[in-house]
Amino acid sequence: MFNKKVADLLNDQINKEFYSAYLYLDMNNYFEARGLDGFANWYKIQAMEERDHAMLFYQYLQNNDCPVTLGAIAKPDKEFKCDMDVLKAGLAHEEYVTSLIHDIYAAAYEVKDFRTMQFLDWFVKEQGEEETNARDMITKMELFGNDPKSLYMLNQELATRVYTAPSLVLD
Ligand code: MG
Repeated sequence: MFNKKVADLLNDQINKEFYSAYLYLDMNNYFEARGLDGFANWYKIQAMEERDHAMLFYQYLQNNDCPVTLGAIAKPDKEFKCDMDVLKAGLAHEEYVTSLIHDIYAAAYEVKDFRTMQFLDWFVKEQGEEETNARDMITKMELFGNDPKSLYMLNQELATRVYTAPSLVLD
């Protein structure tokens, strides 16, 4: 059985990942309204990935006979004033999620829960990639966002992103 603190944090993370999916859907919604369908596509796929993350935590708890408690998912409450606002909120959110993953890892480490540490290794790596992607988006937007033609091309580039299931698979 898991240590109580580790179990609580893993349970909370299900909720945080579903909230992340909600937040990215809100960003998808923003870009749909803007008519930037490529950006909208990128954030929709991001939302699907977050849902997958939630399901991995869910499955991990069930696989280890740990009771799952599902809480209410918060309403995304960010007001986006411009495109860059969205991108920066995305990066800030990923940095926050990284801190949450690290907190669970630290709690597991403290009680020598090696199984949970190994499970979380994938997420530690994933968060590194998420932060890099979010920073790349900001850099590209800084370079090209103010020129309509370049923004159009960036939008086309982001339209090519396709959904792939997570490489971590739990039975
Ligand atoms: Mg996630």
